[in-house]
Amino acid sequence: IFVVDAHTGNQKEDLRAAEMIRKLNKPVILAINKAEGKKYDHTEHEFHNLGLGEPMLTSAISGRGIGDLLDTVVDKLLKLPQKTTKITEDDFDKEIIKVAIIGKPNVGKSTLINKLSGKKAAIVSNIPGTTRDIVTTDISIGDNRIIRLTDTAGLRRSGKIEKGIEKFSSLLVVKSVSDADIVLQLLDGPDGVTSQDLHIAQIALESKVGIILVVNKWDAVEKSQTITHEFEKYLGQKFIFMPWAPKVYISALSGRRATNVIEEIKNVWESLHTKIPAKDLNNLIIDAVASLPPRGRRKPPKIYFSHQINTNPPTIELKINFPEEIHSSYIRYLDKKIRAKYPLPGAPIDWKLTKSSTKDVL
Ligand code: GDP
Repeated sequence: IFVVDAHTGNQKEDLRAAEMIRKLNKPVILAINKAEGKKYDHTEHEFHNLGLGEPMLTSAISGRGIGDLLDTVVDKLLKLPQKTTKITEDDFDKEIIKVAIIGKPNVGKSTLINKLSGKKAAIVSNIPGTTRDIVTTDISIGDNRIIRLTDTAGLRRSGKIEKGIEKFSSLLVVKSVSDADIVLQLLDGPDGVTSQDLHIAQIALESKVGIILVVNKWDAVEKSQTITHEFEKYLGQKFIFMPWAPKVYISALSGRRATNVIEEIKNVWESLHTKIPAKDLNNLIIDAVASLPPRGRRKPPKIYFSHQINTNPPTIELKINFPEEIHSSYIRYLDKKIRAKYPLPGAPIDWKLTKSSTKDVL
């Protein structure tokens, strides 16, 4: 249901949003809302150019048109085909690694996808029904495994005029990241890291997905003996909040080292599914706490117990008497201690702090 505003009338942004919505190829209902009173009875004409069919007049406040709107939704639902995506029997037993490829416009996302799907690996299918905004490509990597790559139109440059539209593409990035197991974040070698890149990385971090930093256009970077070392250091400083993210230097254009990306995806997939032996985990935490006990601001926190409760990503639960007293820097400290033995490249650790008393644990 695309809602427009009867009070403001047809806006430039409505037209742009309608274009995007049309591309989704999904049933759409156009609702002209805030249509309280007769005065808006003929506003439909004004919105015909959106090309989204016959608009409906509604008022969420007075309830006008809401029953009809609901009827139309049901009508459209009933007309939907049973299933929109086909899962073939072949796909059934396969392990699918969902990878979102993200990065600002022109960083080389499409070029990399073409390279990866066209040359070394065979394209299994180009999934229909996807739009230009999100394109999905399957790459078979053997062992009954498939990498399902999703290319998202990157975040737009921070513009001033088209605020509404920018939000749309940011949301697309958030959606494709949260649907993924692993994010390939493309960076532009010659341009370096921008604030937009860091913003994207933050989205990935918050979504608790695997992440690989892919420095593209490495062919266009002026080389010196120390360049890789310098760049490594530079990236380490910029992405200080995820020192565990692997870095790959490639040229999507020439294909040089592009297949390293596939190898790295396999590695990160392993990391995401790592199960740390229970005893080992508990010992690591006990040792870490012994050499630096957590200090609370008001009350002394005590960690009673730790265990891994999930994978993809590895999720560790800590049972604590006063979890709110544990500072985020202390979790970073524990994270580092775990990674000293289990590096888990590319995988975030999801730390869950649960309130507990000794009697729950013993
Ligand atoms: P997207 O917007 O992220 O999908 O970027 P494209 O794949 O469309 O690439 C944008 C431009 O960058 C094109 O002109 C590509 O030829 C160029 N490009 C992509 N990868 C490389 C690379 O590795 N090296 C160089 N020099 N140019 C590249």
